[in-house]
Amino acid sequence: MEHADLIIIGAGAAGLAAAIFAGEELAAQGSNHRVAILEGAVKPGAKILISGGGRCNVTNERVLPDDYQGGPRPLIRNVLRAFDERATLTWFGRMGVPLKLEPTGKYFPLSNDAHTVLDALLRRAAELGVRLHTGQRVESLDALPEPSNTGAAFQIQTRSAADSASQWQCRRLIVAIGGMALPKSGSDGAGYAWLTRLGHTLVPVTPALVPLLLAKSASPAGRLTELSGLTLLARLRILDAAGRRCAEVTGSTLLTHFGLSGPGPLDISRHWLRLRLENPGGGYQLCLGHPALATPEAADAWLRAEAERRPGALPAMALTQLFPERLAQLLAGGLPPFRQLTRADRLELARRLVQMPLPVAGDRGHSFAEVTAGGIDLREIDARTMESRCVPRLHLCGEVLDVDGRIGGFNFQWAWASGYLAGRAAARGLL
Ligand SMILES: Cc1cc2nc3c(=O)[nH]c(=O)nc-3n(C[C@H](O)[C@H](O)[C@H](O)COP(=O)(O)OP(=O)(O)OC[C@H]3O[C@@H](n4cnc5c(N)ncnc54)[C@H](O)[C@@H]3O)c2cc1C
Repeated sequence: MEHADLIIIGAGAAGLAAAIFAGEELAAQGSNHRVAILEGAVKPGAKILISGGGRCNVTNERVLPDDYQGGPRPLIRNVLRAFDERATLTWFGRMGVPLKLEPTGKYFPLSNDAHTVLDALLRRAAELGVRLHTGQRVESLDALPEPSNTGAAFQIQTRSAADSASQWQCRRLIVAIGGMALPKSGSDGAGYAWLTRLGHTLVPVTPALVPLLLAKSASPAGRLTELSGLTLLARLRILDAAGRRCAEVTGSTLLTHFGLSGPGPLDISRHWLRLRLENPGGGYQLCLGHPALATPEAADAWLRAEAERRPGALPAMALTQLFPERLAQLLAGGLPPFRQLTRADRLELARRLVQMPLPVAGDRGHSFAEVTAGGIDLREIDARTMESRCVPRLHLCGEVLDVDGRIGGFNFQWAWASGYLAGRAAARGLL
């Protein structure tokens, strides 16, 4: 049986932050409590390394509760306030990783290399005496009915990369196992089972920030995949069966051979998947439109002005002012010059420019998602300490919880902030 005072399961962003803040709290009190991390993967921090295209978008210039979905906003706000984006900048600066702001509002390490971020976290944890056990996958977790004479409150069973089983005990536990995005990195959702067995509620999970698949057909929307490689600024809007707007995102949109990717589609994907999960009969439609044209009436007014200016021009030519040429051709390629265009065709084109329904056939799944929507219910967590309200001495942080942020460094900010609260509170609990 192996013992530590505090065990952290998972050496991702949240687990490493929790380990460092626990270690700093213990060091500040002159305590020599033992802190250990159990990490299933042989190499920790896989997601940090691939994040932001290998540059790691560490945080954002401005982080607000509205940048997140999932659990109750006031709880998310409390966590973000405890360790905000400025605290992240200072913290990384102290660890020798200056961050630079890009025009998009995203912060990246000055080195433009995610290794700098991971190395600094691992170095700081080691300096504080945190023992990192990699290749130790947790298979089961039990809360002991009464803390034992060693004070142990949890028993954990792991299996090593070499297939040998070990037992661990600890007095405090932080679970930072992530969600299900990119399961090959080690975060595959297996831990939800131990957490629900301990009394937690799992809010059903779906991929989020995930590319969407489009069905192919002869219609213009069904031919979008033929424009693979094309990027445009688009507005993506979800309408319900009554035509009401349920969600809207404007962002860079990449057309691919399978469908849609890029920041706009990734951000809208979570709304699309959650709406359909929560209301399967909702008759939702995802529509693409030009961001400058808010309504079909506005688009029709624009088309009429173009027709007046150049009656002999083809609508497809006029549309190149709004869209890349290949998309303009796809939207209006078969139409005659404006002077021969029927009113019905013009109105139909106007509708297409504002909200062309997309034939969404699915999503690329957790393996291609950047984050998980759903997870352990945030209402079961004390947002001051990240301690479970179901199991005393157990803290949760990071993506395992029902919180997901949009693209832009928000998910890491959640990991740092919730890791900060969990680590500090768990250490104080030991003291
Ligand atoms: C391709 C990609 C790019 C991204 N880019 C960005 C970005 O630029 N900015 C941003 O803010 N967010 C980004 N994200 C999201 C961000 O990486 C995650 O939200 C964040 O890493 C979550 O941190 P976490 O520590 O909660 O979980 P994870 O990073 O998933 O870490 C969990 C850890 O727990 C371990 N673990 C899981 N189960 C077990 C077990 N049973 N036993 C032992 N260990 C276990 C895993 O191996 C893993 O190391 C990106 C995600 C992906 C997939």
